[in-house]
Amino acid sequence: MTRRRICSRMCVSLMIISILIGISLGGCNTTPKEIAPRNVILLIGDGMGVAQVYAAMTVKKDSLHMEKFPYVGLIKTSSADNYVTDSGAGGTALATGHKTKNGAIAVDTAGNSLKSILQYAMDANLSGGLVSTSSITHATPASFLAHQISRASYQDIAADFLKTNIDVFIGGGLDDFSKRDDGRDLTVELAEKGYTVLTSMDAIVTHEKGKLAGFTAPGHNPKMLEGRGNMLPDATATAIRLLNQNPKGFFLMVEGSQIDWGGHANDTEYIVTETIDFDEAVGIALEFARKDKNTLVVVTADHETGGLGLNQGNIVDGTVIAAYTTEGHTGVMVPVFAYGPGAEQFTGVYENTGIFHKIKKLMGL
Ligand SMILES: [Zn+2]
Repeated sequence: MTRRRICSRMCVSLMIISILIGISLGGCNTTPKEIAPRNVILLIGDGMGVAQVYAAMTVKKDSLHMEKFPYVGLIKTSSADNYVTDSGAGGTALATGHKTKNGAIAVDTAGNSLKSILQYAMDANLSGGLVSTSSITHATPASFLAHQISRASYQDIAADFLKTNIDVFIGGGLDDFSKRDDGRDLTVELAEKGYTVLTSMDAIVTHEKGKLAGFTAPGHNPKMLEGRGNMLPDATATAIRLLNQNPKGFFLMVEGSQIDWGGHANDTEYIVTETIDFDEAVGIALEFARKDKNTLVVVTADHETGGLGLNQGNIVDGTVIAAYTTEGHTGVMVPVFAYGPGAEQFTGVYENTGIFHKIKKLMGL
């Protein structure tokens, strides 16, 4: 009996079993599954541990988009010099595949620049984008594009944007570009470099094509609880629409920045509203990937914040009684959700640096 016939029989058996137990195996495919994704969308919930996700699930009383991902893993988050990472070292690990000291932005422990997955993609003529609900110069987005010893060097991080050819970025942080100690106005320099510089979401969502520098706030964007509205999902949809104009593909990082700040504040409502908003952006990415069929979506976090415990709750009422162990970050593992070509590579337990290496290998960069 040929291998194909054996496979065929196995597939029929598996399909019957799957129907019996109500699980879809997604078809019976005898072709190799090593298909490289053309596009990768990496969404990072800053400070989003498993408890943050489950609190959002409970309060929403409806399933999150994160629950729809077929492949789930866990990553370890320690930095090069601390059991508990900050967002600089955490972002650097995800972006560059290297552990570094807390506070560093895409430089190693000796201060040498580390090349990010975004830069690898752009060097291969793919398009690149960043979206964030914080200032775009904040630690997580900065780790994908800038190189600084200190995450606090916001104006230097802004200047690093001019050293790249990033196609689209949308987030807060306008003042780091336009109100600078060195007198430069980087918004003018961005325009001279060919960017359309826009300063409102109303304008950003209508941008048709070409490089986009989208500033949504002078500093950080407001909280969801203070009326941020659909900024993150709309910015995500806009970035995908613009980046997808490149037939070679794209890499996009989207950060839900303020889940972390809710954790620092030990404010459960803040955490939950930010996590649900982040999940809306996840839904936008997932919907695109489902239609596109050539896009890998990976959702993860840089670390957990607050030591959030859900000591009681009520699924019917959509309430949780939370407790916290700290106003800082913690060292626990954080979840990874993956969908699309290569998504099965993201299961298991591994270091945060593995996210970079897996994406780089899958994209052939
Ligand atoms: Zn934090």
